Amino acid sequence: MDRTENATMTGIDNGGHIQTVTGNIRPEQLGYCQSHEHLFIADGHSAKLVPSLRLDDFDATCSELELCKKHGCSAIVDAQPVGCGRMADLLLKASLKTGVSIMASTGFHKLVFYPDDHWIRDMDEDSLAALFIGELENGMFTGCDLSRPEHRISSKAGVIKTASDREGPVGDYKRLFSAAAEASVQTGAPILSHTEMGKGALEQIKLFTDHKVPVDSIIICHLDRVLTDTDHLMEVASTGVYLELDTIGRFKYHSDDDEARFILSLLEHGFDDRILLGLDTTRERMKSYGGAIGLDYLHESFFPLLRSYGVSDSHIYKFTVSNPAKAFSFKRRILGHAGTDARDGRVMPIKEQ
Ligand SMILES: [Zn+2]
Repeated sequence: MDRTENATMTGIDNGGHIQTVTGNIRPEQLGYCQSHEHLFIADGHSAKLVPSLRLDDFDATCSELELCKKHGCSAIVDAQPVGCGRMADLLLKASLKTGVSIMASTGFHKLVFYPDDHWIRDMDEDSLAALFIGELENGMFTGCDLSRPEHRISSKAGVIKTASDREGPVGDYKRLFSAAAEASVQTGAPILSHTEMGKGALEQIKLFTDHKVPVDSIIICHLDRVLTDTDHLMEVASTGVYLELDTIGRFKYHSDDDEARFILSLLEHGFDDRILLGLDTTRERMKSYGGAIGLDYLHESFFPLLRSYGVSDSHIYKFTVSNPAKAFSFKRRILGHAGTDARDGRVMPIKEQ
């Protein structure tokens, strides 16, 4: 069965496009997608803080992508944002070499991951929004972990990464989150938002929706890192955002059995069309870097476990194919009317009036 037939069967909305490092694709072309990974992180400030974050071996990352591809993986979201060790040129090269689609991130990470004199700390909100929009529309910057963004490549970012501490978008994070929200509203791009142990999610969602970002453009990451406060998790799910579960095979937090039971409870509450899966990989976990589990862990271990809990293949298909196709598509701004770009026929987002 080809991907188009699959898309028709599961009712994927063919509305906006998905933006990969090699160009735009239609949502039904995405295929199996892991929604939060780290394929490359440069040897810099992040890696100094947490050595297992350094992922800068092109051949090792390509081997890891091949492992996943053997199981039918056709797309990966790389969650490392601009100026924070993102290696945009290698993402493009790896996608071209392996044929796996990669959606890259603009946006920002937690402030702890930037040196004290980093440009992101003093760039005003409008300039930040313009930077994010430029990365989504004109191409990503390279070589700007220490100096201001200057050199742009033609590959575009496909998602806006945001991140806060457990208090949510307070203090200096307000400026960063507001800029990201503005960029999403102007471009229709999805937002991939890091939460600290699942905390701060409701505050993040409030800020985004106050800025008129639609809930189906918001993906909350790491919601499953702590599974004890079920009421909080269900409250986040009830807002209508996408729920990215990426604490799988991370046994310092909880077992995969706990994760499977959490997914079952989300299904019981009717959130099957909101779940996305990923592994939030680091050096310690990628097989090709000598780590423990590998990008193929979902197929090798977690899906069999989920099935043993009674989760159906059609649910797994939703979490990894039809939900990502919707979550990572650029949303049309429907307050006006959508126009069509004559160059490639894609629907262009309309700025809210
Ligand atoms: Zn991550």
